[in-house]
Amino acid sequence: MPTETFEFQVEARQLLQLMIHSVYSNKEVFLRELVSNASDALDKLRLEKLRDDSLDADVSDLHIEIDIDKEARTLTVRDNGIGMSYDEVGQLIGTIANSGTATFLKELKEAQDEAGAEGLIGQFGVGFYSGFMAADEMTLVTRRAGESQGTRWTSRGESTYTLETVADAPQGTSVTLHLKPADPDNQLHDYTSPWKIREIVKRYSDFITWPIRMVPEPADGDSTPEPETLNSMKALWARSRDEVSDDEYHELYKHISHDWREPLETIRLQAEGTFEYQSLLFIPSHAPHDLFTRDFKRGVQLYVKRVFIMDDCEALLPPYLRFVKGVVDAADLSLNVSREILQQDRHIRMMQRRLTKKVLSTVKDFMTKDADRYATFWREFGTVLKEGLLTDTENRDAILAVASFATTHADDEPTTLAQYVERMKDGQDDIYYITGESRQSIENSPHMEAFRAKGIEVLLLTDGVDEVWVDAVGEYEGKQLRSIAKGEIDLDGKGDEKAGEEREKQAEEYAGLLGWMRERLEEDIKEVRLSARLTVSPACVVSDAHDLTPALENMYRAMGQ
Ligand code: ADP
Ligand code: MG
Repeated sequence: MPTETFEFQVEARQLLQLMIHSVYSNKEVFLRELVSNASDALDKLRLEKLRDDSLDADVSDLHIEIDIDKEARTLTVRDNGIGMSYDEVGQLIGTIANSGTATFLKELKEAQDEAGAEGLIGQFGVGFYSGFMAADEMTLVTRRAGESQGTRWTSRGESTYTLETVADAPQGTSVTLHLKPADPDNQLHDYTSPWKIREIVKRYSDFITWPIRMVPEPADGDSTPEPETLNSMKALWARSRDEVSDDEYHELYKHISHDWREPLETIRLQAEGTFEYQSLLFIPSHAPHDLFTRDFKRGVQLYVKRVFIMDDCEALLPPYLRFVKGVVDAADLSLNVSREILQQDRHIRMMQRRLTKKVLSTVKDFMTKDADRYATFWREFGTVLKEGLLTDTENRDAILAVASFATTHADDEPTTLAQYVERMKDGQDDIYYITGESRQSIENSPHMEAFRAKGIEVLLLTDGVDEVWVDAVGEYEGKQLRSIAKGEIDLDGKGDEKAGEEREKQAEEYAGLLGWMRERLEEDIKEVRLSARLTVSPACVVSDAHDLTPALENMYRAMGQ
């Protein structure tokens, strides 16, 4: 096949431009990205061979190799992993499959400062393209394990790339960067220096479980020197806390999550005994943009005795903790274990319960010890955590304890239920809330009038999931959760006889009007009654205590029910 030239997708081209005129100051991380891809490729090949022994691939010495050539000014990262077919190269490298990319680029344009832009880039994992921060040309040669022909991809990071088949490519992938001139003022170092490479690998990729080797250039007259292994390959989760620096933990987080930012918290958990496991979990500092899409990938990886088994393992944490990233390394599982088996395994279920409790208690610690961290956590993940109020009855109290809500009590400080209860007025039995689309629309609703007039605090719930969990949960510490938009609300106290008499008198007085209204609106409503909940507005629409709210009604209608 002759060399073919292709145009990058518009989005890919825009990202490349960003990389080239990089907003990212720390340019050396391109090496981490390439090593990370190589490591993934080795994991994938191992697994594929494990599942299918007939696969024609050599797995005897899986490793990563870094070659530098000072004269040619090139740096090559090579792996003998799974590789890619011709079509895969076009799909994986030539396009950006991520549907959120358009949103990303828009947000990026709006990002005011460099830090914001860096953060956004991290969120969208532009891994491979980051090579263009250091290179003016990249070449990738790859052969998929089991296939006989290889593929070469080249690009100068402008608008096009080329693809051609190659007959004699070795198994796996090599990525060669033709380096830009070093420019230390711009954080662009000399990446042909073995010393620099050692330092970068040590800093970002030490924990990679495959050997990362470098062959130093022979000094004059020497025979070819022995390759040197740059990383310790020690699994961070198996090492004791005081042996590992925070930076090392963070690099592992970045490798697993494809996020370039620091995590909000690192959680270590180890269990000994009949079912031994070690785990390192990370709470990210930002919610990924696709957290609420159906094919959101969870981030907990399963290892068995240091061997990577699967990404995205849903049996390890409940869905409402799907934003948690990390590693669980279990000692007594088969390397061949399947997702179905994991779902049913009693030990895995026990492990899930323990990990869940640990994450929730960590959030509780944020709350009691570090208000800023708690605020960040709740802003980013509060909505998804509330899903747990519906699905995880065992931990419902623990979730309620760390939940906070917008309230009429303060404009921008959310409140916990405990704080609400503390502020409740004498004689107030219930916790009042109202649901709606936004704080503003709720605050202007006529339902609020009487509460505002009497100074009674109302929780303002604006997430879709709020409508559902309040019904499922029903009460907090013996106090009912009551919607101020549903049923009859008697703010004057139930036993108040005078108010009752007054109301009866009014009812007689207005009987004619109410009857007329009832007749006119017969088709649309159940009942017309006098209400104590308004102070200014003449009328408002309420639903029965057990009716669906309008928003839910719309939702069910949209679902065709
Ligand atoms: P990510 O790693 O976040 O998926 P990248 O841009 O780093 O994004 O890589 C894009 C895709 O290209 C990878 O998901 C992988 O499928 C493929 N790829 C990149 N490098 C390699 C490699 N060394 N071996 C095999 N596939 C690779
Ligand atoms: Mg990558």
